[in-house]
Amino acid sequence: MDQSFIYTGNPARILFGSGRAAELGEEIRRLGRRRALLLSTPFQKPDVEAIAQTLGNLAAGVFAEATMHTPVEVTERAMAVYSDTGADCVVAFGGGSTIGLGKAIAYRNDAPQIVIATTYAGSEVTPILGQTERGVKTTVRGSSILPETVIYDPDLTRGLPVAISVTSGLNAIAHAVEGLCAQDRNPIASMMAVEGVRALKVALPGIVTNPGDAVARSNALYGSWLCGSVLGMVGMALHHKICHTLGGTYDLPHAETHAVMLPHTVAYAEKAVPELLSPVAEIFGAPTAAAGLYAFSAALGAPTSLKVLGLASADLDRAAELATTNPYWNPRPIEKQAIRDLLQRAWSGSRPE
Ligand code: NAD
Repeated sequence: MDQSFIYTGNPARILFGSGRAAELGEEIRRLGRRRALLLSTPFQKPDVEAIAQTLGNLAAGVFAEATMHTPVEVTERAMAVYSDTGADCVVAFGGGSTIGLGKAIAYRNDAPQIVIATTYAGSEVTPILGQTERGVKTTVRGSSILPETVIYDPDLTRGLPVAISVTSGLNAIAHAVEGLCAQDRNPIASMMAVEGVRALKVALPGIVTNPGDAVARSNALYGSWLCGSVLGMVGMALHHKICHTLGGTYDLPHAETHAVMLPHTVAYAEKAVPELLSPVAEIFGAPTAAAGLYAFSAALGAPTSLKVLGLASADLDRAAELATTNPYWNPRPIEKQAIRDLLQRAWSGSRPE
């Protein structure tokens, strides 16, 4: 245990369990609100419309245009619907994209937020908002951004396709693993990180074998809550910086990019702080955390190369440049050539070194 630390918890009410989405109306009232604007992606619109039906008068309307990277234009349209419908709170039903839209609204008007999380990205328990304006993605933090209430109902994740479940679960693991090495790590965050990785290590193979498995779905959502909480509590480093760069500049898909990069960025950190990552190596029964994560991803059928995600090899020099400019704090100093080599290995899908 570190002998000196600061711990700041993120206050939120968490409801966890099969069937709990049915308690949404009660939770809206509990916040002292009467008219919720329901948010989703176009794909999840039928689900959110069905929820609006069951809410009756508590539903002010549905806005189903949430999209990846939270473009400001979409937020502005949603803000107009929020005021036109007389809404007094938001309900985000979905993954990180929809939750991002709810946060963007709350950031602007302090609307209370209830999230029903349906992926493993973990955004629902962080006070962080990433948004895009004129092609540039920026990140802000703030107490109004953190959702007040989160409902985790594993029944709603049974239809999450296996490929998305796997990459989203690896995205969650990335929050935990990087959190273990954070400059501001603390014993509570580290305990949650280890428990989260342990839960996902068991759950994800179970989902690949049987996507409808209620126990595996519940464990995966539990693990993602813990891992997301770590992301919300401590600072991220090289891994998140590279993924942010690749997503923001080259439009690579969010969760898949995390899945590909994780073993490589972990290998980089592990040379400096093997003792902080040894719980991860132990969970995966491997000599190193990087080797364990690489084998785990491959066994789950996750993408293992940036090439497959559509990055051109000609982009690697520039990506290395961007990923090493204004770096986040990192447990191992950022060396540009070593990052270029790491990106090369991730691009071709070689083993992490
Ligand atoms: P997503 O929200 O874009 O969801 C991916 C797709 O899966 C969407 O089409 C969605 O409608 C669909 N989907 C979601 N749940 C489903 C379900 N249960 N069944 C069937 N389909 C379902 O993807 P994501 O990976 O959850 O989120 C990525 C976004 O979240 C990125 O913009 C990323 O930057 C952001 N993010 C932010 C934070 C933060 O703390 N601010 C943390 C993690 C991710």
